[in-house]
Amino acid sequence: MKQSTLFPKTRKEAPKDAESINHKLLVRAGFIDQLMAGSWTLLPLGWRVVTKINQIIREEMNAIGGQEMLMPLLHPKEIWKETGRWDKAEEILYKLKDTRDKEYALSFTHEEIVMDLLRKNITSYQDLPVYVYHFSTKFRNEPRARSGILRGREFMMKDLYSAHTSEEDLMKYYEIVMGAYSKVFNRLGFNFRITEAAGGVFTDKYTHEFQVLSDTGEDEILYCDSCDWSQNKEIFSGDRGNPCQKCGKGKIIQAKSIEVGNIFPLGKWYAEKMGVNFTGEDGSKKPVWFGSYGIGPTRVLGTLVEVNHDDKGIIWKKEVAPFDVHLLDIRTRDKAQSAKKIDDSLQNEGIEVLWDDRDVSAGEKFAEADLIGIPVRLVISEKTGDKIEWKERISDKAELLTLDEIISKLHNGD
Ligand SMILES: [Zn+2]
Repeated sequence: MKQSTLFPKTRKEAPKDAESINHKLLVRAGFIDQLMAGSWTLLPLGWRVVTKINQIIREEMNAIGGQEMLMPLLHPKEIWKETGRWDKAEEILYKLKDTRDKEYALSFTHEEIVMDLLRKNITSYQDLPVYVYHFSTKFRNEPRARSGILRGREFMMKDLYSAHTSEEDLMKYYEIVMGAYSKVFNRLGFNFRITEAAGGVFTDKYTHEFQVLSDTGEDEILYCDSCDWSQNKEIFSGDRGNPCQKCGKGKIIQAKSIEVGNIFPLGKWYAEKMGVNFTGEDGSKKPVWFGSYGIGPTRVLGTLVEVNHDDKGIIWKKEVAPFDVHLLDIRTRDKAQSAKKIDDSLQNEGIEVLWDDRDVSAGEKFAEADLIGIPVRLVISEKTGDKIEWKERISDKAELLTLDEIISKLHNGD
């Protein structure tokens, strides 16, 4: 894609009200735009990244049997009344009335809707288990919508729901989802901990959060430096500095973190409230066992920037970068066909190119390339001759390579 056509242009200054790094850098580099507090447009660059994040999540959900679908966001009041959450979730649930005084919720989650689907479609134990998920917008009445795209009133979520015949089957799948989530966050390159937490309005049981270690995080967790033990600060009751109770040798460390995912073994509560039953092998009617599992792709976008940046800009990992390479033509004369030829050849190889074809100074092009943060920068200048300069965003070293060498390097991923 030609950078001269990319919407919008980058900005020299961060917005005055921006406090967090993701807010400053994502806005300056043209990935997101704020409509009002907590309400963001994903601009073309931002949407490219979120699409790649979603694809990683989708692959791992499909690998554990998840079936993708799409549920509505506008829900009738009555269905939220069935579980009592119309009142219980009062503080975070957006409620609205139409001109005929009918009341609705703008959803922040979909347990009630999946339960309704199950109640209409499940009769026997042979119809279970069920694993369904969707990517959709969520609404949350958020009093402090700060922290850039990390905390929105409207944001994107992938939520998976599972229904089972027994607690044993639910907990077996819960562990499988935990493994799939770990794969997602490893593919995203996060340094994360799986942390025990309280359930909030979702459940009275303990649940698990996926917490990315980050000095700028709003959450605080405790974790063992030797084994996988970790708890959210809200439920931690031990003494910091004591040895780990799980492995006996590790030290307990307190750290700031950003929550990017959570999983809830919800049990029979929803099925009992909403009358979602199946006939067991013995002929008796039993409530369905239920779990729900969320990842916030837009929050992942913000978290990636919080943990991968320097004073020049964003540093994308190649798995989620908006483009594979940033091609800069900085020649002031002889601007013949060669940049277009390189762009075409790379694209024919399936490589995504952002080609800076604009008439601006070399210094400006370099600064913007660093700000946008595409993993590989390719430069053609009066000095590069038949070759092309290759430089990675994470490194200061540049080298001259032929086009063939560049293509093979990009394909081999080293
Ligand atoms: Zn330990």
